[in-house]
Amino acid sequence: MSNPLGFDTLAIHAGTAPDPATGARQVPIYQTTAYVFRDADHAAKLFNLQEVGYIYSRLTNPTVSALANRVCALEGGAGAICCSSGHAAQIMALFPLMGPGLNIVASSRLYGGTITQFSQTIKRFGWSAKFVDTEDLLAVEHAIDENTRAIFCETIANPGGYVSDLDALARIADQAGIPLIVDNTTATPYLCKPIEHGATLVVHSATKYLTGNGTVTGGVVVDSGKFDWSASAKFPSLSQPEPAYHGLAFHPALGAMAFTFHSIAVGLRDLGMTMNPQGAHYTLMGIETLSLRMQRHVENAKIVADWLDQDPRVETVTYAGLHSSPYRKRAEKITPKGAGALFTIAVKGGYDACVKLVDNLKLFSHVANLGDTRSLIIHPASTTHRQLEEDAQIRAGAAPNVVRLSIGIEDVKDIIADLDQALTAATA
Ligand SMILES: *Cc1c(COP(=O)(O)O)cnc(C)c1O
Repeated sequence: MSNPLGFDTLAIHAGTAPDPATGARQVPIYQTTAYVFRDADHAAKLFNLQEVGYIYSRLTNPTVSALANRVCALEGGAGAICCSSGHAAQIMALFPLMGPGLNIVASSRLYGGTITQFSQTIKRFGWSAKFVDTEDLLAVEHAIDENTRAIFCETIANPGGYVSDLDALARIADQAGIPLIVDNTTATPYLCKPIEHGATLVVHSATKYLTGNGTVTGGVVVDSGKFDWSASAKFPSLSQPEPAYHGLAFHPALGAMAFTFHSIAVGLRDLGMTMNPQGAHYTLMGIETLSLRMQRHVENAKIVADWLDQDPRVETVTYAGLHSSPYRKRAEKITPKGAGALFTIAVKGGYDACVKLVDNLKLFSHVANLGDTRSLIIHPASTTHRQLEEDAQIRAGAAPNVVRLSIGIEDVKDIIADLDQALTAATA
């Protein structure tokens, strides 16, 4: 097998082999905290990173490593780590790059939870984010200063409709000597591999499509291995002796694996945002069918979005796969197999109609999640964006008359029938 393996083969086989101890074909759930050292010398080598192996499951675990290696293969990276959630993955991606007084330039069109994490919570670490509309590439360039350590964006922004120009953002990041970090949750590597568009780090909420059925909270960070952390003095945790790991200089010593080993040996060790083996097992199961599910998600989303776009009860549909979308051309370049399955609609009748729509749907579940096999809906203005003033809701794409749909893989006629009857009840 000298040719590179295809995506679907990797989705089933990457990162795993029959269990050497038992021959178990499926990846066992290694439900263990610690691993017996062969002898004291073996233990010392593991702690010195002279030999790769398992020490303690806060750092690495065989089931969790299998998942990290699988997502790494699908994204075309050099190394990856798994985390306890998508939000944990974002902190873990930033951790080796940041320090007090440093900032990131972040897209203003991000998942609401990420906006809160970046605008409020990271300030407690002395980090900050400058939010910029990434449609304005000059504004992105101008926002970068000598303390900026990354650009952060989403491939297809949650709640949907906006596709980032990854290639253009990667060029700006390159010129500034900083990495582009891409949250690829809503696209998945099936629809887009951000590293091929110049991203250095890719983060995922594995909670969504990677697992695919709403059973797990998890996250992944994938490193391309291509960034030269030693090219400037900007990334001392990677290029200089790291005091948190007895003076090891990660990039000089480990090259393309520097970020990954730092994330394990320092990040997971000290921040402890570790994924559990049971969760990793469910996500591995989910990824085996990632292509099949994403094909159906996209196929259904396109049909449902086209149907809603023609419906007089609906004012607007933000799906980037729609012929009329301002981002359709870019979606064809960045996500050529389809623009995902997440989008918003504005319903005639405003806030009250949206509440009635949500309450009258039978097949759709009203939940704060996305990327499930099931079709899901949420009305941000009465839930996730409830605390915001109306103008802030509108800026966040969560106006009172907007609902977010995550189109599942049920029979599309049933999805449409459910929306049809609920829209009738909502706008009567
Ligand atoms: C859900 C989500 C996250 C956060 O992931 P959790 O697993 O819920 O912590 C981050 N980014 C995007 C795009 C998401 O949809």
